[in-house]
Amino acid sequence: MYYSLFLTWRYVPKSLPILSLTANSLSNFHQYILNSTKFPLYEKSYESLLFSPFVQTENNFFSLSSNDLQTMPVPMVNKIFSEFLNINFSDHIIVYTDGSISPLSTGFSFYIPELLISFTNNLPPSSSSFTAECYAIIEALILISRLAPNNYLIASDSLSRLLALKSNPFNFHPSPLALCIKHITLTLHQSNYFIQFLWIPSHIVIYGNKVADSLAKFTYSLICPSLTQLPHTDFTPTIPHHIKHLWSSQWSNLPAKFATRYKHIVSIIPHKTWFNNLHLSRSTIIQFNRLRSGHTTLPAHAYKLDLNDSLFYTLHITEKPCDLFHILFDCPSLHLKRTTLFKPLKSLNISPNLYSILNSNSEIVFKLIITFILEAGFRI
Ligand SMILES: [Zn+2]
Repeated sequence: MYYSLFLTWRYVPKSLPILSLTANSLSNFHQYILNSTKFPLYEKSYESLLFSPFVQTENNFFSLSSNDLQTMPVPMVNKIFSEFLNINFSDHIIVYTDGSISPLSTGFSFYIPELLISFTNNLPPSSSSFTAECYAIIEALILISRLAPNNYLIASDSLSRLLALKSNPFNFHPSPLALCIKHITLTLHQSNYFIQFLWIPSHIVIYGNKVADSLAKFTYSLICPSLTQLPHTDFTPTIPHHIKHLWSSQWSNLPAKFATRYKHIVSIIPHKTWFNNLHLSRSTIIQFNRLRSGHTTLPAHAYKLDLNDSLFYTLHITEKPCDLFHILFDCPSLHLKRTTLFKPLKSLNISPNLYSILNSNSEIVFKLIITFILEAGFRI
């Protein structure tokens, strides 16, 4: 909707709504997003959805906990791990996979020591570590499909990725990449390949895993930008950030004559709303928000909206635009009531000016101000 607004905006005197600008700039990401005409669940065969690969995530090598292993010297840990593999997976080819994310690059890799094969590639920087880990497995499985059928053990330090392979796709929001891994693994099983998955805790140094980790980290030196497509969820964390950035820059670049009153109240766009964490009724939020923005039905603004015949308050002779400032500080007919308003405000350390009052976070202040205006006979 916001994107179509961007395309059809013809209202020249006003700038485009920020959400439309954002929608347009996000449309540039389109080429990097995994597209599907179907819900991910319907992309793969029903058989592959039901298929549950063998995944070993309860890892205690010879009854040693990962804490025990962490306190041991690295060579001893690796000796124990080799013995564990020899006993449990002696006829398997071990494939270490890993993904790595850093602010500048995201990489994924796999390493097969027995076959002296290593692979590494990069992903667009916004990709999540989950996506990077999934692509490492997918690429490893693609390579395996080109090798002779055999038993393969994919060792990974990403517990979340391995658990995603075990989870029931009908109960959870399925990751399209996890479904893809299930699908390829099933296809391989049907062609006499036998694939198993093993979780290695990341904080114990296993040589093969360390090599895969270094390979994935090394992708920052790749010059070519990655054209790999990512699930749309990988962009979710960047969208609020992107909107805030656009909004802030638009706000600070407004011409001086625009929104001068509100800019005085809100000089920079805050991260949270002014009523965040305050227990206010909806009507209080609406009324005080109107006072902050100046979009009220007080005579001066009501006149602009064509709701009033005059922008002046008619109870006194001097003609002054009757806005919030006039009512709170200036109006002679409210002199007595004003004295009883400012006493409690002073005791709450609120300076008698619009900036301090409208930027207050005290519920008592909101109530005092709103009551004062309503009792004076105005509508907000
Ligand atoms: Zn007045």
